[in-house]
Amino acid sequence: MRDKIIYLDNNATTSCSYKVQEAVRVCMKEQWGNASSQHFIGRQAYRLLEESRERVAAALACRKSEIFFNSGATEGNNWIFLSLLKSNPGKRRIVISSIEHKSVLLSARALEALGFEVVEMPVTQDGVVDLKQASELISNNTVLVSCQYANNETGVIQPVSQLCEMAHNAGAIFHCDAVQGLGKDNLEMSKQDFDITTFSGHKIHGPQGTGILYLRGGFKSWPYTLPFVGGGQEHDVHPGTHNLPGIVGLATAVEEVVSNLSQRIDHFSKLQKLLEKELLINIPGCIIHGKSANRLPNTTNVAIPGLPADILIANMPLFCISSGSACNSGAIGASYVLQSMGCLEEVSKRSVRISTSIFTTKKDIRSFVSELITTLKTLPSL
Ligand code: PMP
Repeated sequence: MRDKIIYLDNNATTSCSYKVQEAVRVCMKEQWGNASSQHFIGRQAYRLLEESRERVAAALACRKSEIFFNSGATEGNNWIFLSLLKSNPGKRRIVISSIEHKSVLLSARALEALGFEVVEMPVTQDGVVDLKQASELISNNTVLVSCQYANNETGVIQPVSQLCEMAHNAGAIFHCDAVQGLGKDNLEMSKQDFDITTFSGHKIHGPQGTGILYLRGGFKSWPYTLPFVGGGQEHDVHPGTHNLPGIVGLATAVEEVVSNLSQRIDHFSKLQKLLEKELLINIPGCIIHGKSANRLPNTTNVAIPGLPADILIANMPLFCISSGSACNSGAIGASYVLQSMGCLEEVSKRSVRISTSIFTTKKDIRSFVSELITTLKTLPSL
């Protein structure tokens, strides 16, 4: 049964690529040392660590000193808010978008309880941050503006360059959660002015539990107190023994997705075009969220008429799709992202996300649509 499963949930996580698996395996077998140890085995591990950092920096077009390895974007996103909390900056306003991942949203709200003022930039019906309203919210009292590169549920790409400029004009720092952008759009750090950017390994065919914190100008340029203390690894940006196999796998994944970027985008775009055409032809009344916005080519979020998403998903067991983000899927409720876009709760509960990878084929897409049509015919609409 396993090989019949069609995986269309790549915004939740991706399978490790062959090169990544190999890199992790070799590292675990041959270079298992602690990169902080002074002896031969440790120095060997340290060289591998720094070589991995160089590979990531080259792929992201930035300096090696600007790359910090951590456990993923949840840690990276929390880190920023904890850092502000420890520093107690004079300015108290934090501006985030209303559709941020929970690791940003809840981190910001935690600070609100401690005297910061958190304001949310609304999004348009297409799921794009409203720049006019953003400009009114980003004031001289703003310490941080945080906006994701692209939304994990809808794939809508955000106007991050403009928001970054607004933040800088107001004397604030700009954070971009770029988890969903990497490997799906051109994201060279040298072309952006972001002060801090967070990435995750497992969304790009790298190992789970790996991530990157990019700090423009390196750790000395970060104006706030570092939130964690420990053995000094990663200049205490992420203290603790390095997860070397994870880091090596992550570097391999970053290199792979960046070097194949144009083929990846081309592949995703063809699948997206096929999927959305088939959905619109075969399922009258379906709504593709954010259809007219600039979207990631691998993501389609669609409201299916007649059935709640959880019932649909339960009745298509060979197809891995999602209702909203994986972190929320324990609780079956309406998506706050879709609701921020003005989507009715009832429509939001009928919405599913299909997210492809480089391993998805046209045949997978056709099988999915065909199974969806059959399921809708078989189940009574609710
Ligand atoms: N931000 C976004 C936009 C995401 O999609 C995710 C993963 N769902 C995260 C942050 C959290 O990343 P991680 O799984 O590496 O903690």
